[in-house]
Amino acid sequence: MKLILLGPPGAGKGTQAKRLVDLLEIPQISTGDMLRAAVSSESELGLEAKKLMDAGQLVPDHVVVGLVESRLTEDDCRNGFMLDGFPRTVPQAETLEVALSKSGVGIDAVVAIIVADDELVKRITGRRSCKRCGSIYHLKYNPPPKEDECICGATELVQRADDNEETVRQRLEAYHSQTAPLVDFYNSRGILKKIDANEKSPSQVFELIKKELEL
Ligand code: AMP
Repeated sequence: MKLILLGPPGAGKGTQAKRLVDLLEIPQISTGDMLRAAVSSESELGLEAKKLMDAGQLVPDHVVVGLVESRLTEDDCRNGFMLDGFPRTVPQAETLEVALSKSGVGIDAVVAIIVADDELVKRITGRRSCKRCGSIYHLKYNPPPKEDECICGATELVQRADDNEETVRQRLEAYHSQTAPLVDFYNSRGILKKIDANEKSPSQVFELIKKELEL
């Protein structure tokens, strides 16, 4: 299955993507994770991307398109993949469509997770993730089993550099102006699955997604 997860920052894309890839046994391709890896490695691309990410802005289309195109040529993507956080602009979606059509394939479904802005700010500012295994928590809504300790036993639960209120507002602005138009874009292609995730737990949202995808 070839899937796209669409939604504003903090909607739970990463959390749902992890559950879906475990269920479907397909790779998760997160441009945010790829860019954060580039930032950690202090590559030229990472240094350029960091400034934009810290400001809550999108990195240029050609940068992420290049990353995704090369990732999709890897063997593990042959039977499907889950794109998480990509595409984020209409030009990215159009480029993806052309690239996939060259190999005679297309996206099967686009899951759009919908959450109101005020709830998103609360979710993002309380978000923490495990430095070792990547598990995602929320200090209030989804705390780790033991305080400051991940389920994997690691004790380094960290906050993303761009998960502060000011940057979050900027990221929401980028979402509404540049990414939200993709809801209509994929609706017009007849593959959009809209999920209302307001005031729902990760498990409730996952059940709704499975129902929509008939899994
Ligand atoms: P995420 O982890 O998906 O929330 O992404 C974190 C940040 O990485 C975003 O705020 C952007 O600065 C950048 N980013 C991730 N994916 C994309 C994309 N598809 N296009 C442009 N920028 C992106």
